[in-house]
Amino acid sequence: MICFEPQSTGPKPAALTGVLATMPLTYPGYATGPLSLNIHKTFQLYACCILHISVSTLYLLTFLISHWPTTAATDIRTLTHSYSMKIQHLQAKSILNPSRLPGITYAINPYTGCQHACIYCYADFMKRYTGHLEAWGNFVDIKVNAVELLEQELQNKPKGLILLSSVTDPYQPLELKEGKTRSILKFLLKHQYPVSILTKSDLVLRDLDLIEAFDDIEIGISITTLNETHRKTFEPCTITTQRRIEALKELKQKTIPSYTFIGPILPGTTNLNKILHEVAPFSDFIYCETLNFRGKTEQLLQHVQTHTPELLNAFLFAVKHPHEHTQQLQDQVNLLQHHYGKEIKLFTHLPTRLRKEPLQNHKA
Ligand code: SF4
Repeated sequence: MICFEPQSTGPKPAALTGVLATMPLTYPGYATGPLSLNIHKTFQLYACCILHISVSTLYLLTFLISHWPTTAATDIRTLTHSYSMKIQHLQAKSILNPSRLPGITYAINPYTGCQHACIYCYADFMKRYTGHLEAWGNFVDIKVNAVELLEQELQNKPKGLILLSSVTDPYQPLELKEGKTRSILKFLLKHQYPVSILTKSDLVLRDLDLIEAFDDIEIGISITTLNETHRKTFEPCTITTQRRIEALKELKQKTIPSYTFIGPILPGTTNLNKILHEVAPFSDFIYCETLNFRGKTEQLLQHVQTHTPELLNAFLFAVKHPHEHTQQLQDQVNLLQHHYGKEIKLFTHLPTRLRKEPLQNHKA
């Protein structure tokens, strides 16, 4: 008990040193006076401690409340994760990247890094280019000069479809506060550049005022599974799948061209039929993508074994028999395309050796 500690020249217990160091007052009987069991002094010390705890709690609550909007936290894990993030405002060297993705001419990434922290994300190769040592999902660099760069880099370039974004989520939680994506959209709207947005977040709805003013725009909402337990395991800091479906509904209501990106297809939990049942009425078309194991096989299998062992066999099958796995998905896609009357494209990540073999395209 600190109040009974005699005047001492020795070190104070470590746990108490921090608390005492922050106390602005000299406590009678503690720092300067002799040992005293005087009830009055004891009461004073207790009162000071309680005051300190109350002030600290109040400060913590104020901090959490004032930062809450930047987290868009869906659960305590998301919130905790948000506070371990390293967030930097940086001057970027460039912003417009030529893209080899089908139909896409340029990609713009307003941020480097992504708070969504998806376990399967292969954009983590960005760490190599930026020198970040933090785990993927634990850092975000905000490109403060994005719009200025865009203005320079788009000059004299032919117009083409611009993707927001290819290696980050343009509507990750901190976009709510930072607004980089919004400012880029404003600029693109001024020049009516054609835009394709792909996100896992319903924060995109915030920018409907801009989106509705574009002549040529499409919004893709990314979904991997309807199983919330699995969603939290693989995409720990994203919003629920249900909220994403609601976002698709709202886009449909506003008659904004929109699509669902089912990807990556996580073996054993991504149920194409069930997802399509939910999203087909609100999607103009559907893209699906197989899981890209390249360079991540061990890490992913380890994750599955630890967190979702019920999916392990399905993952192992996809790893050991990539061609059969992909063929099964292609067959499903062909049937579902017919059933739902929607255009559904499947993108695959077969090992190079197999990629050369064309997939049988069974007509349903
Ligand atoms: S949202 Fe996209 S970019 Fe962000 S971590 Fe997930 S997969 Fe990667």
